[in-house]
Amino acid sequence: MNDAAPNAAPQTFYLKDYKPFGYEVESVKLTFQLSPNATKVHSAIRFTPKADAEDNRFFLHGEQLSLISAKIDGTPVTARLVDGGLECDVPRTSFLWEAEVEIDPAANTALEGLYMSNGMYCTQCEAEGFRKITYYPDRPDVMSTFTVRIEGDEPVMLSNGNPTGAGEGWAEWHDPWPKPAYLFALVAGDLVNHPGSFTTKSGKDVELNIWVRPGDEGKCAFGMEALKKSMKWDEDVYGLEYDLDLFNIVAVDDFNMGAMENKGLNIFNSSCVLASPETSTDANFERIEAIIAHEYFHNWTGNRITCRDWFQLCLKEGLTVFRDAQFTADMRSEPVKRIDDVITLRARQFPEDNGPLAHPPRPEEFQEINNFYTATVYEKGAEVIGMLKRLVGDDNYYKALKLYFERHDGQACTIEDWLKVFEDATGRDLSQFKLWYSQAGTPRVKVTEDYADGTYTLTFEQSTPPTPGQPDKAPRVIPVAVGLLSPNGGEVRGTEVLELTEAKQSFTFGGLASKPVPSILREFSAPVILERETTNSERAFLLAHDTDPFNRWEAGNALAKEVRVAMVLDGAAPDAAYLDALEKLVRDDEQDPAFRALVLSPPSQSDIAQTLHERGHTPDPQKIYDAAETFTQTLAQQLETSLPRLYAATTVEGPYVPDADGAGKRALNGRILSLLTRLDGGEQAARQYASADNMTQQYAALAALMKAEKGETQSKAFFEQWQDDRLVMDKWFALQIACAAPETTAATAKELTQHPLFSMKNPNRFRAVMGALAGNHAGFHHASGAGYQLLAENLIALDSVNPQTTARMCAAFQTWKRYDSERQAQIQAELERILATSGLSRDTHEMVSRMLSA
Ligand SMILES: [Zn+2]
Repeated sequence: MNDAAPNAAPQTFYLKDYKPFGYEVESVKLTFQLSPNATKVHSAIRFTPKADAEDNRFFLHGEQLSLISAKIDGTPVTARLVDGGLECDVPRTSFLWEAEVEIDPAANTALEGLYMSNGMYCTQCEAEGFRKITYYPDRPDVMSTFTVRIEGDEPVMLSNGNPTGAGEGWAEWHDPWPKPAYLFALVAGDLVNHPGSFTTKSGKDVELNIWVRPGDEGKCAFGMEALKKSMKWDEDVYGLEYDLDLFNIVAVDDFNMGAMENKGLNIFNSSCVLASPETSTDANFERIEAIIAHEYFHNWTGNRITCRDWFQLCLKEGLTVFRDAQFTADMRSEPVKRIDDVITLRARQFPEDNGPLAHPPRPEEFQEINNFYTATVYEKGAEVIGMLKRLVGDDNYYKALKLYFERHDGQACTIEDWLKVFEDATGRDLSQFKLWYSQAGTPRVKVTEDYADGTYTLTFEQSTPPTPGQPDKAPRVIPVAVGLLSPNGGEVRGTEVLELTEAKQSFTFGGLASKPVPSILREFSAPVILERETTNSERAFLLAHDTDPFNRWEAGNALAKEVRVAMVLDGAAPDAAYLDALEKLVRDDEQDPAFRALVLSPPSQSDIAQTLHERGHTPDPQKIYDAAETFTQTLAQQLETSLPRLYAATTVEGPYVPDADGAGKRALNGRILSLLTRLDGGEQAARQYASADNMTQQYAALAALMKAEKGETQSKAFFEQWQDDRLVMDKWFALQIACAAPETTAATAKELTQHPLFSMKNPNRFRAVMGALAGNHAGFHHASGAGYQLLAENLIALDSVNPQTTARMCAAFQTWKRYDSERQAQIQAELERILATSGLSRDTHEMVSRMLSA
């Protein structure tokens, strides 16, 4: 074993230090002899020195491996074990490297490399897990073909590519497409398949399978349809076809991520593929459809064209998130998808971008790459592509993408390569645009207006606050989509994209009959914070009249925030005009139910805290909670007479179908039910709970009851009904904490960590409990500090089991500088306690240090 010494000074890696590997890897052959505690891996790898290599050091990554033997061209050699791998003296001509190592999949609770989950073998190699399987140049720019033989007594044994042979106790696979090691996958276990097939547009038949544990066969049909839709969509929209005879998906219970796009053998967290009406909510169905699409789309944007190094992660992730968002918009509702994405961006990425963990979409240094699978790399990475598309136009976007696939197929690329295809395809200089990839932080765009003699002027000023390591920032290119409305509601100027390139810039609109009402940043055309002094009556006007659905919602959302902020700061009563506007909208059956549900969903309490912080106030989580409660109670009373009718009108009759229309109606119905429950003592919710034949309605009823502290009976019944279903149980765990009052949140979560079904080894279950704790804003930030303490204790306990999940969950503390000095002192003490833990992982060490040093 050559484990890195615990608490060794962590090494920092820099983008500027990139050097290509000195050898070509011509081919890789791997033989696995599976055994839970002693799997043997034999590798036979042909290396050829590169004639022009600047560095001939022969270094192979390897961690937690027992090296049994090493040979070069059949002759035993002595390799030098060094920190993080081995070195060896090698010939200056092509040679065959062979090594035999032993690994312990059953003891691998970090879930990186080859591990066991409920008796089944599976792998997770991105980003650097392959080095825990065998010695190898484990870097994305080293691409090779893989041939794999698996020996063992598992009924099903799968790897990447196409099957080439199988017999009693063995199976062989060959992947003809050169790939980096992070896309390697192996699965072996007692699995059953849900089969399907797809014929590509050029007439090639592809066999499709979703592999699951026996008993889960009934939860695969939706995923299979989503896969076929994704394959068709990528052909229709991007002209991209699938390239193997087989596409396998496997569902795994213990998994750190959502899913992984290994070539031909996608491995999914079971929560991201298994679905049935009885066990999954509408939100689960939509997420599963999107994740299946995302992983499938990676076959081109990620696998055929991969990243040169991990600093370029957003090259594949930003683009693939952008593509899956396009897919969901096409399958469902474009405006609803956009609004959902902006809500997520603000909830996950903005806090990151405006706190101690801020980093650019392409970071320039890291200690542990697993810590950079972030909302900035993924979601902001996708926003950057959305801006690029808006700036060059749709036709040029697809022209550039075509060139990208022609020019870079089979290569490991950089952001520079990506931007170059756009420059070559469009003739546009993107050097200033590139700042989006290198600068961290969310730009503030301040807007002022002027109107005189029929000419309307908008003046924009952009600035970005300092972020760690980046005190000053140059102006970026910001596309701002603007439309103008007349004071009586009609549109006088349709959407135009203004290009901000300077720190301060004005745009004029002439020939107007009267001063218009501007609709700025339509479709949320750039991930910025817009600052503009305006009135609540103008917001109400836009909520009623804007022709851009995103900005209609945005006006309502801004209004909701203003009302909340006034309630928190001045103890004001909920604004009557706003309540009237909401009532009018909710009762307007002409409006899309999904849109009405979104307008009825209040801004999150964390969002209010961030808004207060930005305006120079110290947020008080309890006051924010109280304001939210008062507001919802007042809204329920305001709507009292219409709620029963609205509830009846939005109830979806007939068999459950997880489509966008039904989901929108059920979302609105769920909002109405939660309001109604505040008034009727839970009668309607109890009836709905008793009669629900699908999880969406059952869960909505349970949530409404628990929030009103009326759900004890139903919660017990829910447990009895679903205790054997791990995914449904995750909901049960999370819901109790989400619905707890601030003073009981930590105690509720603590009690659940003592529950026999709680487990540190299952990331989904850990996240269900600790994620819900961190997500209950007033409970987590309760003045007692009990929430902070409980999370820290559990992170310390998890770190030795699963560093990756621990480090990611540390981000729950990232907003700590928003709060008062008592809370800051409590959080600081917890962060220091985590950092002082002996043997703390590199992952967690880096995250906590970054949060403390800012
Ligand atoms: Zn991805």
